[in-house]
Amino acid sequence: MNKTTVLVVEDDSAVRNLITTTLETHDYKYIKAANGQSALMETSTHKPDIILLDLGLPDIDGIDIIKRIRTWSEVPIIVISARSEDTDKIDALDSGADDYLTKPFSVDELLARLRVTQRRLASMKNTDPEDSTFTNGELRIDYAAGSVFMNDEEIHLTPIEYKLLCLLAKNNGKVLTHNFITNNIWGSSFDSDLMSLRVFMTTLRKKLDKSSKSGQQYIQTHVGIGYRMNKL
Ligand code: CA
Repeated sequence: MNKTTVLVVEDDSAVRNLITTTLETHDYKYIKAANGQSALMETSTHKPDIILLDLGLPDIDGIDIIKRIRTWSEVPIIVISARSEDTDKIDALDSGADDYLTKPFSVDELLARLRVTQRRLASMKNTDPEDSTFTNGELRIDYAAGSVFMNDEEIHLTPIEYKLLCLLAKNNGKVLTHNFITNNIWGSSFDSDLMSLRVFMTTLRKKLDKSSKSGQQYIQTHVGIGYRMNKL
């Protein structure tokens, strides 16, 4: 099997070395970039499988790098943010990043994020776009019938709960921001939409949790940021 190649974009050499050493000892291949220009160049010439991108770079803003890469590539991007505020993570996710890590992060966190992204990549390759059903652990969505099953038992969802679940399923494993979700479901992102989203998400999760025999958590909350369907 080919090793996964990770492009590490980080101007702080200590952090960059920590990441590349971790990657090396866990059987990943890596490419390094210390600024935005070389990040863009390495992305187009070496076509990495995953990009780890520090948002605070000396030359180009991390958010701009995401936007530029997204004009030609769907490569998964995990951003590394030094700031504890959620706004830059939200901007990054809304600009097309897939996931985030907050500094300081542990080696285990880094590896966990990479594994989630790899699972997403693998399932993207194996999904037939014509496929009319979605499966994740005990959960199954029959798009043609508009029905949802947990362990082959039908769960009754309201139309909005169903739309929410389909949106999360379509982006299985990816963190979706509140804005992204409310825009998709209601076409707007007012505070009232955000409040509705919380309510619908709570009822949706209750229904999923009640029917799950494994006790697995299907929907993960990212406080202040959004939600993600866990890829099981
Ligand atoms: Ca930096």
